[in-house]
Amino acid sequence: MASVYIHVPFCKQACNYCNYHFSTKLEKKDLLINSLLKEIELRRNELKNKKIHSIYFGGGTPSILAKSIIKSLIDSVRQNFNLDKKIEISLEVNPDDVKDGDIENYIEIGINRISVGVQSFFDSDLDLMNRRHNSNQAINVIKEVKKKLKNYSIDLIYGLPNMTIDKWSKNLKKAIGFSPPHISAYALTIEENTVFNDWVNKKKINLLSEKEVLNQFNFTLDFLDKKGYDHYEISNFGKKNFYSKNNESYWLGESYIGIGPSAHSFDGEYRSWNISNNIKYINSIKLNKLPASREKLTKNDKFNEYIMIGLRTIWGVSSKKILKEFGKEYLSLIELKSKNHIRSSNLFWDEDILRISKKGKFLTDGIASDLFII
Ligand code: SF4
Repeated sequence: MASVYIHVPFCKQACNYCNYHFSTKLEKKDLLINSLLKEIELRRNELKNKKIHSIYFGGGTPSILAKSIIKSLIDSVRQNFNLDKKIEISLEVNPDDVKDGDIENYIEIGINRISVGVQSFFDSDLDLMNRRHNSNQAINVIKEVKKKLKNYSIDLIYGLPNMTIDKWSKNLKKAIGFSPPHISAYALTIEENTVFNDWVNKKKINLLSEKEVLNQFNFTLDFLDKKGYDHYEISNFGKKNFYSKNNESYWLGESYIGIGPSAHSFDGEYRSWNISNNIKYINSIKLNKLPASREKLTKNDKFNEYIMIGLRTIWGVSSKKILKEFGKEYLSLIELKSKNHIRSSNLFWDEDILRISKKGKFLTDGIASDLFII
């Protein structure tokens, strides 16, 4: 199986915490869409002999595109690749973009999963983040989506400045009130070149302590576990059969291609990434040249990636897989390097699978990097 990610690098306004690749200058939108269509064609020989089980529209803000444009992109993927009959086609939507009748139209053109970018049900948080929508708009969109689609997700952010555990629990309870099959809960991170970063430096906002963020994370794990959600990746929770297929592709090490500026691809041997500049992307595609850099993964790179992904996900790190794909020497190293974290109860062996414990989850990335082979 394989998947296709399409990056739509435009937003109507910049959120204060975001450092994804996007532009708020929409003049080049049409030119860029033509380039996306052309990139799909240029890459039609990649993923040969593989069935595509997921197309994911992310961004940026894919919901600013007209339905006819989204349809033409889906049609182009359909014409140039081999799609699985049960393909999942996901669209990220900003609640502010969704108008009456839009959900039916999305379904008509083939979208069968919608990810609603709610972030918080408190207008004060949404103002602080400079989101375009308000809480009522988000609620109305979720109600509409729920009426028409079984498969959808609500995206939330915790650890925001001034967010108390009480406020965060209200956000989660509100989300759960809709019984969505999937919830993404991301911890706020302060990224370079964002308004939040500037505000932190100027002491205009106070960040929560690590302990407060940890409390919110642990509350999320316990609360969603009781409500029947599997914590299948550090920021993602799903009911059985509703894990995002796009996410699964990344985490199970399957091949994927990323279309559009800044999008990443992986073919099992090489990792590549398109240039994060809309004009340079358009100009390069015009000359039939993929604007991508690439690197071949070494055996150690592949091993380290497997450790990181395994510990971040419900699938864990399999000693059998290490033995088969990397050899005895790598298995001995992981057994040795994991000892301290097992002793401090951050990791444990579940038969032949090495897993992160609840205590270790919040520190997953650091623990994984302790096990890397450099
Ligand atoms: S969070 Fe989403 S909508 Fe906001 S600026 Fe980033 S990409 Fe755009």
